[in-house]
Amino acid sequence: MLARGRDRRLSALESVARDGSKPIGMRELPTKPCVVCGRDITWRKKWERSWEQVKYCSDKCRRAGLGELDLALEAAILSLLEGRKGGATICPSEAARAVRGEGWESLMEPARMAARRLVAAGRVVITQGGHVVDPSTAKGPIRVRLAGPKTK
Ligand SMILES: [Zn+2]
Repeated sequence: MLARGRDRRLSALESVARDGSKPIGMRELPTKPCVVCGRDITWRKKWERSWEQVKYCSDKCRRAGLGELDLALEAAILSLLEGRKGGATICPSEAARAVRGEGWESLMEPARMAARRLVAAGRVVITQGGHVVDPSTAKGPIRVRLAGPKTK
């Protein structure tokens, strides 16, 4: 699984740090997805001993947590995609509309968050202009499609 690779990176990081040999660049720091918004959380010194327990990228996400609506959005994304074969994509707004007819606009960000969580789970990928993009940094309109055969 992904987590194991990340743990290995962390021990590598620790040994480098103990050596005091060279400064550690951001790129080498372990990351994991926030369980709420799905954006990457990058390892920080203050989490040295609690990294395993870190779940949220921010207090905002911690407070928000995950509700039924969020799970409904994930399910809607998957069922819309499964209804469309052949690598078809959907817009997160379609999932928002599927979950709430009137006032679906307010579910746009929650729908994007649901898509990111599904990326973290390896179920879907997020694309822009037909290319797979990093969900943590993608700006502007995104599309979602099912992830291919398991890739790391
Ligand atoms: Zn978050």
